[in-house]
Amino acid sequence: MRLTAIKLAGFKSFVEPTTLRLTSNLAGIVGPNGCGKSNVIDAVRWVTGESSAKQLRGEALEDVIFNGSRSRKPVGRASVELLFDNSDGKLGGQYAGFAEIAIRRELSRDGQSQYRINGARCRRRDVVDLFLGTGLGGRSNYAVIEQGSVNRLIEARPEDMRQVLEEAAGISRYKERRRETENR
Ligand code: ATP
Ligand code: MG
Repeated sequence: MRLTAIKLAGFKSFVEPTTLRLTSNLAGIVGPNGCGKSNVIDAVRWVTGESSAKQLRGEALEDVIFNGSRSRKPVGRASVELLFDNSDGKLGGQYAGFAEIAIRRELSRDGQSQYRINGARCRRRDVVDLFLGTGLGGRSNYAVIEQGSVNRLIEARPEDMRQVLEEAAGISRYKERRRETENR
């Protein structure tokens, strides 16, 4: 499973539709301060189900929508799509057979939010579910390591550390299923 493209439109500073292609296993994003490097990472977290505005460096959820600049008016909606090469079938469940998987999230200013997997509307939890056990999305999103997160891990409470280890071991998917069954 490999992230091959990030498509953004109206998301934070990316007001114009922009496609970032990741053509190898290692890509670097470089640029001057404030040019939008961290916004790209926020976009990845956002599509994979991040629901805390603070984690996305904003105050409200709609802060991810381009809110205007000196030369441009604000826009009404933000969308981000991630393309994954899934030829190894790592993204599983009903999508295991798809060689390419597109995950999309849209939000408009009236609060309307949508998730899509390969074009079909789905719930946030379907997206979170899809990534369970991959380290992306969900409660222990260790695929995104930002400033301070290594320290946070070192100083984590045993329960929190366990959550990270269970995600890495691929157990979290089964625990989530059990939690659901027990709550039914
Ligand atoms: P640094 O090198 O300092 O870490 P960076 O490249 O990571 O910088 P970002 O934090 O990604 O920069 O981008 C910050 C820019 O994004 C700011 O100019 C800010 O005004 C802009 N920005 C953030 N949210 C929005 C929004 N909703 N609408 C318009 N612009 C936004
Ligand atoms: Mg930054």
